[in-house]
Amino acid sequence: MKSRQVRSGAILGVVAALAASSVFAQQAPVKRDFDAEIRTAIESAKTASGFEFLGTLVRTCLLPQSGGEDTRDVVPGYVTNPASAPARATWYAEPAKVFDNLYFVGGQVHSAWALTTSDGIILIDTIFPYNSEELIVGGMQKVGLDPKNIKYVLISHAHADHIGGAEMLQSRYGARVVMGGPDWDQVAKYPNRYKTMAPKRDMVATDGMKVTLGNTTVTIWLTPGHTPGTVSYTFTVLDRGRPVNVAYSGGTAFNFVNNTPDPGIRNFQTYIDSQRHLAERAAAVGATVLLANHSEFDNAVNKNKMLAGRGNGPHPYEIGADWVQRYFQVTQGCARAAQLRLEQKLAEGAGR
Ligand SMILES: [Zn+2]
Repeated sequence: MKSRQVRSGAILGVVAALAASSVFAQQAPVKRDFDAEIRTAIESAKTASGFEFLGTLVRTCLLPQSGGEDTRDVVPGYVTNPASAPARATWYAEPAKVFDNLYFVGGQVHSAWALTTSDGIILIDTIFPYNSEELIVGGMQKVGLDPKNIKYVLISHAHADHIGGAEMLQSRYGARVVMGGPDWDQVAKYPNRYKTMAPKRDMVATDGMKVTLGNTTVTIWLTPGHTPGTVSYTFTVLDRGRPVNVAYSGGTAFNFVNNTPDPGIRNFQTYIDSQRHLAERAAAVGATVLLANHSEFDNAVNKNKMLAGRGNGPHPYEIGADWVQRYFQVTQGCARAAQLRLEQKLAEGAGR
């Protein structure tokens, strides 16, 4: 009786050991809790956003993303038939003098900026072909600037909402055009897509490149991700004579192949690395203003309206260095969450 108990006890022990080892075998490699990691990334973006960057948070964490690469080369409908362009009421916004030497000449959704210098004007981004004439040329005239003085046109990236007026501004005013190399290549590759928008290939942006006109310098930073050639900027403006440093983010949404682990995971890493790069450059110059090329990301149109009632109060665009950094925490947190979803997809696919 006693020996049988011992034996059965020993057998139970072996069974337990086997069960434990098989559980162990199943668990190694340790299973990642992707859902928890995704929640943490989104939570970090939400916390960073506060109310200041809700538009950025919604676009990069919540709204469905464009998926694959657009390889079509078709003339946009609004170029073929200008009457089909969106109604003016959906895009018109008043121009505004935002700083002593920086003017908003964009629309309700997409922005363009005129930086005035002692030797002419640097124009940043050019909106669509159908509204650049009224918003940029007309807007500049409305605030007392002569578009003939545009010497440089800086294009953050080659999407129609930013490059749309570049061909017209280059050919009409002889402005030099600066854009990222891969985006110059895109323009050459898709002649129909860029019909009426394509400037002749001119200056290729490099990281740390300085575009100086008179007393003013814009420093260009390569921030690939949104497009392979997306660039961003840092520069100094004056608020009632006081220098204020600006970080200009050239591309925010995930407009790259992001629906498959390969190349999606890598593309998100490129984007995240660029956000870190610009965040570091912004911190290095002490940027207290974050500008973008969509009002959805920097609230430009609303802030332009606040300027009128500013009085002796703070400048509505000057959010401080900490909040500038928070913008990059939002974009990085949301990009990381989307990247994690692809890592999860990859892990689950490999487990089958
Ligand atoms: Zn874009």
